[in-house]
Amino acid sequence: MSAKVAALIILLAIAAASPASAQDPIMQVKVTYENASQLHTLQAAGFDMAHPQRDHVDLFLNQSDLAQLQSMGLQYQVIHENITEFYKSRLPVLEDMGGYKTLSEIYTYLDAMIADHGDIMSDKISIGQSIEGRDIWAVKISDNPGLDEDEPELLFTGVTHAREVITPEVLFYTMDYLTDNYGSLAEVDGIVNNREIWFVMVVNPDGYYYNELIAPDGGGMWRKNRRDNLDGTFGVDLNRNFGYMWGYDNVGSTPVTSRETYRGTGPFSEPETQTMRDFIISRDFSIIVYYHSYSNLILWPWWYDYLLCDDDDIFRALGDSMAYYNGYEPSPAWDMYLANGVSLDWAYGEQEVKDKNFEFCIEVGGNSDGFWPKLSRVPQLVSENLPVNLFLCRAANLGGEGCCEVMGDYNHDGRFDILDIDDFIRCELNNMTCPEVCFEAVDVSGATAGVPDGSLDILDIDYLIGYLLRQDYPSLPECP
Ligand SMILES: [Zn+2]
Repeated sequence: MSAKVAALIILLAIAAASPASAQDPIMQVKVTYENASQLHTLQAAGFDMAHPQRDHVDLFLNQSDLAQLQSMGLQYQVIHENITEFYKSRLPVLEDMGGYKTLSEIYTYLDAMIADHGDIMSDKISIGQSIEGRDIWAVKISDNPGLDEDEPELLFTGVTHAREVITPEVLFYTMDYLTDNYGSLAEVDGIVNNREIWFVMVVNPDGYYYNELIAPDGGGMWRKNRRDNLDGTFGVDLNRNFGYMWGYDNVGSTPVTSRETYRGTGPFSEPETQTMRDFIISRDFSIIVYYHSYSNLILWPWWYDYLLCDDDDIFRALGDSMAYYNGYEPSPAWDMYLANGVSLDWAYGEQEVKDKNFEFCIEVGGNSDGFWPKLSRVPQLVSENLPVNLFLCRAANLGGEGCCEVMGDYNHDGRFDILDIDDFIRCELNNMTCPEVCFEAVDVSGATAGVPDGSLDILDIDYLIGYLLRQDYPSLPECP
């Protein structure tokens, strides 16, 4: 082989390995439509889209996507010619990742937190590896973190999609709150002492790292993992690769490898989804939260079709309470758009190898935040989700027995659970009197801080759950 041919081969090899998206800017395009079937057509084309609105949706397109859109004859307007450049332009220029944490900074921060709070944090545990061999780390916050205690368990996750950089910040803020206030706030003590709270900061470390490579100053738009699809394209959408209703249709995911919602060659074909599957099966999570961005939404199953799940009333009771705190819009996930092979549907739908898990996807941030919010927005975005996470920690005793002796007279099945809470809400909304006696009992106990105005509302209900977790009030007073 001549040196010239060898050099050419090396050049070709570099070209094949280099990121297509690094040379091919992603633009943000607003498409206007007149009816649902036009939106359906856009979805079926497999475009990368944000939350559809009544008459328009934002798409993220490269040049060949744009050509395809143009052939569809819909009205559109280019909002940003190069969305990465736009995001970058509003982030600090001199900081790595525009001031967001790099992958190694995420783990440095986590290690420091563990070093400071080893009394209530486990070591970080590798629960599996990505396709490029990076560890996927989990950590637990609880009292006696080295023991597997018989306490309700929750799981919070971030960075399933690589570009959703606000999601680990949301987790860190809650973790800092729990660890910094343990021993000084009764509410935090109640949660940490009575729950096992697991965190997986980064489900998709390869994708996150890849954004560092292609956009070291921030604004990277890589979404999928880094699977080599062996056809010149890379990446599987991890949130289309879970094994429940995987590939149900081509509207909610796509078999086209180049697309952002490519579902992979089979259910759980990817090591990252296998890792999450095996971890979830190995534990007993009552509530799971996958943080995503963006759209200000709280989503629950189903996602694969326009159907309500059997426990929609429980999801809605929880979702309404979460929305009370962060102001997002709660709904079954299909209300955003259809998707299949998603973590939500598997967590809830798979009930043979494990119990059903109540999983939510929370989409953090609004349209103006996008995937890379201005740094000045971070404090708001992370703090608005802290009370959501604390509420879920309290509510994780779904179907638990904590207060059945007290509430047993009032609920419908002898167990106080989230269904009863929802009943209380309904009674109040319908101006019925059935639950008032018990809440008066709470009121007269002297522990009235959370029941300030005599009328039953979601604050009081949340307070009641919190009350049961407090060490200084081990039980509610007897109802008359
Ligand atoms: Zn996402």
